Amino acid sequence: MNARIPIVAQACDDSARPVLRERGQREVFCGLTGIIWLHRKIQDAFFLVVGSRTCAHLIQSAAGVMIFAEPRFATAIIDERDLAGLADANEELDRVVGQLLARRPDIRMLFLVGSCPSEVIKLDLSRAASRLDQQHHPRVRVLNYSGSGIETTFTQGEDACLAALVPQMPEATTDQPSLLVIGTLADAVEDQLTRLLRELGIERIACLPPRRADQLPAVGAGTRFLLAQPFLADTARALEARGAQHIPAAFPLGEEGTTAWLLAAATAFGIDAAQVETVTAAARARARQGLARYRPILEGKRVFFFPDSQLEVPLARFLSRELGMQLTEVGSPYLHRSLLAHEIDALPEGVRLSEGQDVERQLDRCRAERPDLVVCGLGLANPLEAEGITTKWSIELVFSPIQGYEQAGDLAELFARPFVRREKLAGLVEGALR
Ligand code: SF4
Repeated sequence: MNARIPIVAQACDDSARPVLRERGQREVFCGLTGIIWLHRKIQDAFFLVVGSRTCAHLIQSAAGVMIFAEPRFATAIIDERDLAGLADANEELDRVVGQLLARRPDIRMLFLVGSCPSEVIKLDLSRAASRLDQQHHPRVRVLNYSGSGIETTFTQGEDACLAALVPQMPEATTDQPSLLVIGTLADAVEDQLTRLLRELGIERIACLPPRRADQLPAVGAGTRFLLAQPFLADTARALEARGAQHIPAAFPLGEEGTTAWLLAAATAFGIDAAQVETVTAAARARARQGLARYRPILEGKRVFFFPDSQLEVPLARFLSRELGMQLTEVGSPYLHRSLLAHEIDALPEGVRLSEGQDVERQLDRCRAERPDLVVCGLGLANPLEAEGITTKWSIELVFSPIQGYEQAGDLAELFARPFVRREKLAGLVEGALR
């Protein structure tokens, strides 16, 4: 077994680690962004954003909608109106939904996704969803959640969506142990990880979100759940309220993280570590091989994380422990301690952990550190590049399949790519000047 496995075995106490908490101007996308990966995952769901032209613009440009495709998301634009006009807005919403469902018989689940314009906040979308659900049941299930940009960051859209699904999950008919894997993963990654879990000896495994609306897994007292993403705090709470038990674990990023994640599941199901070692040996060797290619590029480089995707802490752990990068600051919009305990505990001593953001102060700290790489949102990347600082867009790490052994090398490559690009550009400039 990998010598670094103690990331799952140690008592996790981050209370000794100082955390810099900031509340100020933030530079993040809103929760609507999650629709981009959620609509690919739940293949018969439709996401109807109830929002403004800004929301429509964000969602269209983020998704790069092709005009020939039948998209599975759209925006119902609510223009400015007073309270007296809200009855009309509800009627319009019912009409739009009716037209959509008549034209698209393939839709089995419809999400009304709230946004932050004041006209939308005035609308009671949960009431609208239950009204529409009654109208269109049983053909279509209508649910709602908020992707509002007020006080949320972009991965919270997925958390809100999955938390809205939990009350819809059927009650388990047996207390027999079963495992739920929670969080959107690319189908190929999900297949790899669930295959490994089965090979360990866990028989009853299901995933949330499901690939189809009628495949919502059952939940009950025998359900244990393992998070595949660190930003699902509300979903975890909703599952616990349904009697499921959380399996605390590191996240399946890199060879070590994936082994720790599998080992946590195995331990919860009474499977010993030797079985994990046997089942994972070949895949771990492939992961190590994948990582070895990029270690020479990344080792010793200093990295600074701005808060954005909520993946920052597991990524920092991966870069530091598996690729030898040096962490300067690891910022995250929210540090969910109960979910991140193993990850925080595995970070090296002395790294600055920050939660929330005051962007100008953080930029000052970043400039003072002069890191080799900054992981940040799109809004900060261009100005930092203009200052000569190499950046990596954090949103790319959410859109890309990065979990599991087979993706460990790809994950390292995502961080190596900006250095390779910069070197190539420098070579081109040098060549041109000769
Ligand atoms: S939900 Fe708010 S932050 Fe997001 S695109 Fe719409 S207006 Fe902008």
